Amino acid sequence: MFLRSMVAGTAMALTLIGSGGAIAEEKFVTIGTGGQTGVYYQVGGAICRLVNRGSKDHEIKCTHTTGGSVANINGIRAGDLDLGVAQSDWQYHAYNGTAPDQFPDGKFEGLRAVFSVHQEPFTVVARADSGINSFDDLKGKRVNVGDPGSGQRGTMEVLMKEMGWTMDDFALASELKSSEQAAALCDNKVDAIIFTVGHPNGSIKEATTSCESKLINVNNEASQKLVDENEFYAVATIPGGMYTGTDEDVTTFGVGATFVSSTATSEEIVYEITKAVFENFDRFKKMHPAFANLKEEDMIKKNLSAPMHDGAVKYYKERGWM
Ligand code: GLU
Repeated sequence: MFLRSMVAGTAMALTLIGSGGAIAEEKFVTIGTGGQTGVYYQVGGAICRLVNRGSKDHEIKCTHTTGGSVANINGIRAGDLDLGVAQSDWQYHAYNGTAPDQFPDGKFEGLRAVFSVHQEPFTVVARADSGINSFDDLKGKRVNVGDPGSGQRGTMEVLMKEMGWTMDDFALASELKSSEQAAALCDNKVDAIIFTVGHPNGSIKEATTSCESKLINVNNEASQKLVDENEFYAVATIPGGMYTGTDEDVTTFGVGATFVSSTATSEEIVYEITKAVFENFDRFKKMHPAFANLKEEDMIKKNLSAPMHDGAVKYYKERGWM
């Protein structure tokens, strides 16, 4: 807690380096991530570990804190965070000003893309005893729609709107955080939970091993329309056998996780962070199973709708990728 409050925002500190007493400027960088059982938290942890390993060369110290897509983008805009992880749909809406509920201040023109990361299928897990076999069966049930700062809450609302549903269509619409929802499912406080997240992850593992539950397809007319009409959505598959209780492949739609920043974060900081990831790319990919199939060329091309940050462009040009 002390460390977190100490480094909130871009705090600058003076530190004594070396026996000669030379004074160097140490820059603290904070990355917005997500709940501890999700993948964003791991993305932030992996990036910070790589950045901090090289801090003898660049004086940047990196830490990360929880949030979720919408909270992360709003935190960057407010200057509380330097960078953050966000779903491709929320990157698009923040930059274009097309989601006033999530981003009441309108277009965030200073938003910048750094790279994209793993795919995030929109994932629904239902208790085995709930009688839920499709997304449409959620009607009348107790559903954790997610906390308002999270990406899944917003994406859930988009899908519900497409289906003509409101929160009143559920017997209960709870707003628990991603890290709390597996326990709520298995304590029978809700019938289903929703998480837009990379796989495999701790949260869905907890939900499918602590009680009898299964993943549900989300492939109705409304989800297909979202995919057809928006470049930031795609059909997604969660492989059968990945989680207990779900042997068949699950078909749903999804987004991409992306790493974003803003023009307020310096070129130097974004350059060093980008470099730390791509110079240690094999190490990075081993840091989480959801990163195993990442490819450099996809990461700098796919799912990015805001302009690329100058610091990232500098690094990609150096590598001859742009
Ligand atoms: N996609 C989720 C969000 O935007 C977070 C997923 C995770 O924590 O890995 O809030």
